[in-house]
Amino acid sequence: MKHPSHRALIVVDVQNDFCEGGSLAVRGGAAVAGAVTTLMDEYPMVVATRDYHIDPGDHFSETPDFVDSWPPHCVVHTDGVGFHPKVDVDRFAEVFSKGAYSAAYSGFEGATAEGVGLAQWLREHHITDVDVVGLAADYCVAATALDAVDAGFKARVLLNYTAAISPTTWAQAEERFREVGVQVDGDLLYTGSPVE
Ligand SMILES: [Zn+2]
Repeated sequence: MKHPSHRALIVVDVQNDFCEGGSLAVRGGAAVAGAVTTLMDEYPMVVATRDYHIDPGDHFSETPDFVDSWPPHCVVHTDGVGFHPKVDVDRFAEVFSKGAYSAAYSGFEGATAEGVGLAQWLREHHITDVDVVGLAADYCVAATALDAVDAGFKARVLLNYTAAISPTTWAQAEERFREVGVQVDGDLLYTGSPVE
């Protein structure tokens, strides 16, 4: 079944560094990458976001707290910044890069190579509803879904196609979803700590 043309799939940060073997791996990341690809055919429009760091300041730390600071990840020109090999990148109509010089959790902070932001791009393509999937559920997926509602889109997080880092931050994200009206659908694939 194909979704209507006003609904887009936003694939958030399914990148090597966020999957097993990466520098900031989320448990279940590779499984999410495979699952997301099976979902793409149902959507007339699929876009992706990616963490794309050059020098993001205190977003990186040698002694990260895994709340506001993190081990270096998704650095431009490294393998870690690439999309996971299970992701069918040919299906992406556009890629929005974020976080070059500062932390950026939401895909709505991202832009195309030409500098077009995600909200503007979606509006130009007559998108009114977005389904959000990818990594990680409690950080960049949550921030993207919340910003989508803020920008006037109807947003839904598909829990079978994402994975969370921590039960605590995931509970906080769910609370915010209820407050602003982000819909959730399915069961969270995995809730675990970052892979060592
Ligand atoms: Zn980052």
